[in-house]
Amino acid sequence: MDTTSSIKRKNTRQILVGDVPIGGNAPITVQSMTTTKTSDVDATLQQIYSLAAAGADIVRCTCNDFEAAEGLAQIVPRSPVPIVADVHNQYKMALAAIASGVDCLRLNPGNIRKPAHIKAVAEAAGEQSVPIRIGVNGGSLHPELYERYGGKVTPEAMVESALTELRYFEEVGFEEVKISVKASNVSLMVEAYRQLSAVTDHPLHLGVTEAGPPPTGLIKSTAGIASLLLEGIGDTIRYSLTADPVQEAKAGRQLLEALGLRERKNVDLIACPSCGRAEIDVYDVASKAQTAFEDKRIPLQIAVMGCVVNGPGEARDADLGIAAGNKRGHLFVKGQNVAVVKEDEMVETLVQWAEFITENGFEAALARADMEKAQKEAEKDRKRLLAIQGEDVNEDAARVDLIRKI
Ligand code: SF4
Repeated sequence: MDTTSSIKRKNTRQILVGDVPIGGNAPITVQSMTTTKTSDVDATLQQIYSLAAAGADIVRCTCNDFEAAEGLAQIVPRSPVPIVADVHNQYKMALAAIASGVDCLRLNPGNIRKPAHIKAVAEAAGEQSVPIRIGVNGGSLHPELYERYGGKVTPEAMVESALTELRYFEEVGFEEVKISVKASNVSLMVEAYRQLSAVTDHPLHLGVTEAGPPPTGLIKSTAGIASLLLEGIGDTIRYSLTADPVQEAKAGRQLLEALGLRERKNVDLIACPSCGRAEIDVYDVASKAQTAFEDKRIPLQIAVMGCVVNGPGEARDADLGIAAGNKRGHLFVKGQNVAVVKEDEMVETLVQWAEFITENGFEAALARADMEKAQKEAEKDRKRLLAIQGEDVNEDAARVDLIRKI
C-alpha cells in the first residue's frame, strides 16, 4: 500500500543515538520511557523489550540515583534499542549515566542550572560521544526566565531556555544535541516548537508533556505532534501517556504510519461507521478483527464493511476487505470479489487471506480465487438486500426531498 508522504520535512543536522540516526533525512523515530525502577534490571529490560516490539526505536530510563546508574550499566549492553538516561536534578547523576555507557542523555535545563555543571556534563559527554537532549519543560522553567516573561510560561521563554543551554554546550564545542520544548498545553507547545525550529537546525524531539490518560492524552499528544509533523517539524516523537508505555510506543508508531512518515508494519484496519443497511454488528466484527491482527506483522490496509451493497465500493482502495450480506461475508481484494464465507468465519478468513497476501503477493491471491463465482454471489446478495431494504434505507434521499419542499 501507499506509504509515501507529501510532507516536506525541515532539513536538520543529524545526530546518532546509538546506531539510530535522528534528524537529516533519517526516518522519524518513536521513543518511550520505562516505568520500572531502573535499578531493577530484569523488570526494566523486560519492559524495554515490550516497548521495542510495540514500535519504540529508542527507550528512555530514569537515572535518578546511583543504583539506577549501576542498573543502566547492565541494561545498555542487553537492550535491543538505544537507551537514553533521564537526568533531572544532579549533574553528578549525568556523569554517572555517561559512565554507565548510555547512548544519550536527557537534561532539563530548568533543574541543572549552574553553567559550570552543564559544561562539565557536556565535556564528559563529548569525550564519550554521547549526544544530549536539551529537554525544556514548560512546567519547570528556570525561575529567572519565568519572572522575566511576566510570571507565565511563554513559547519565547521556553525557546530562550533551550538556546541558553545550547550556548553553554557550544562554548565547550559540544554539538551533538537534540532539543525538546514540551508543555502540557497543546497550543503553547506547538508555538514553542515552531519558534525553535525557525532559529535552530538541531533535530527536535516532539511531545506534549503530562498529556494524561487515554483517550484525552492520546488526543492531546496527537493534536500537538501531528500539527508539527505536518508542517515538516520534528525528528523524533514521544507520546507521554498516563498508561502502560507500550500504548505510547504503539500510538507513536501508528501516528507516523498514518502520516506516511514510516513504512507500515502492522495492519491499518478501516471499518465503515455502520448504518441502517448493516447486515452485521460492524463494531463487534471490527473489534474482533483488531484483536486478531494486533500482534501480526501484516502491512496491509484491511476493511470491515457492514453491507455488500456499498461496502466493496466504499473500501475499493483497501488491500483486502470483507462486506456482510445475507448471513455471509463477501471477501474482496483490491475491490474485486474473491470469495464468499459464512458470517461467523469472516474474521478468520480475513486473517488467512491477509497472511497469504503478505507471503505470496496480490497476484497469487487473485489467481487462486474463483472471482466469477464470488462476483455472482455478491451480486445476488446485493440485489436481495436492495429488494428488501430499497435504495434509500437510511432515508437520506427522502429527507432531502422533505427539506426541498419546505
Ligand atoms: S452503507 Fe453499508 S458499508 Fe456503508 S456505512 Fe452502511 S452498512 Fe456500512
